[in-house]
Amino acid sequence: MTEVTAFAALESGGRIEPWTYEQRAARPSDVRIEVQYCGICHTDLHMIGPWGQSFPMVPGHEVVGRVIEIGDQVGAFAVGDVVAVGTIVDACRECESCLAGQESYCLRGATPAYGAPDRIDGSQTRGGYADSVICDERFVYAIPAGLDPAGAAPLLCAGITTYSPLRHWNVGPHSTVGIVGIGGLGHLGVKFARALGAHVVAFTTSAGKAADALALGAHEVVLSRDENQMAAQANRFDFLLDTVSVGYPMTPFVQALRLNGTLCSVGLPAQFDVAPMALAVGRRSIAASGSGGTVETREMLAFCAEQEITADVELVSRGEINTALRRLEGNDVKYRFVIDMAR
Ligand code: NAP
Repeated sequence: MTEVTAFAALESGGRIEPWTYEQRAARPSDVRIEVQYCGICHTDLHMIGPWGQSFPMVPGHEVVGRVIEIGDQVGAFAVGDVVAVGTIVDACRECESCLAGQESYCLRGATPAYGAPDRIDGSQTRGGYADSVICDERFVYAIPAGLDPAGAAPLLCAGITTYSPLRHWNVGPHSTVGIVGIGGLGHLGVKFARALGAHVVAFTTSAGKAADALALGAHEVVLSRDENQMAAQANRFDFLLDTVSVGYPMTPFVQALRLNGTLCSVGLPAQFDVAPMALAVGRRSIAASGSGGTVETREMLAFCAEQEITADVELVSRGEINTALRRLEGNDVKYRFVIDMAR
């Protein structure tokens, strides 16, 4: 066992506090990783709050660090490698989804990086707001040379969660794509859609993000609370990637879709607020998408290396985690907080 200094919510809705726990001894295929950087995802806020099932909870599923120990059957990594861990740390490995490398869609339920029972010993999984994490090598990723490790950390959740649906819905040079919500996920969605060759429109409620959205790669910006600007978008879009973290009136966005267009939510609000007639008149679809599996995550990291894509990050120290969470809750981040565990 290894004693780990972590930062945990001790109860639902609680502040993040220093906390220690015993991390398991390395299994034969385990990799122990000294955490260097960990992104702060809006899902961490949901998990510390209403979604959380088990406390104390150590959040963090956008981890980059250095390998400090390997089990005796680990073949892909060596001590000293710079690697990453994302949202999923295990899955059944036998079902149709797992066999296709789409473990996040494991038919028996994938094991999240934190706040869930480990498949083997039932202990709680614990995330990257900590000195170290431990993970089976199947769910550990090499960070391509040339990618800044702090900017790469958010790729492991915000990155793959936006890359995956853009690829699934075949976004490319023929596509007109809207990215709704320019936060941690959305700003990477803009970068990916642009790199895939699409015509990209950023939809934001924050006028102060308009110039940034263009700099991130958007061709146009729409202020989504302006009814006239929204009305002008009717029937334009092949695909809308919706990253908004709360429920909101979606019908004006659905009306912006072309015939057969799709709005895919990755923001996962409690409910979709949409008029079915707006879907019917254009045979439009509303979909939702989770994170990606190991095969697509590796593809995404290679794409990021080739296209020089990383997240725009604001580094915070261990002592600033609670301030960062409050600022994230208030939509005050450009565009991802990343904890620098050395500070
Ligand atoms: P974030 O950084 O807070 O970004 C969310 C963005 O939504 C904000 O920047 C804001 O963009 C917009 N927004 C916020 N409140 C709004 C409102 N009331 N009405 C309209 N727009 C609003 O959060 P994130 O880390 O990107 O995560 C976004 C959501 O994705 C969260 O709910 C998270 O749990 C979820 N998520 C899902 C998956 C998955 O597997 N599907 C993975 C990761 C995260 P503007 O200022 O530009 O309007």
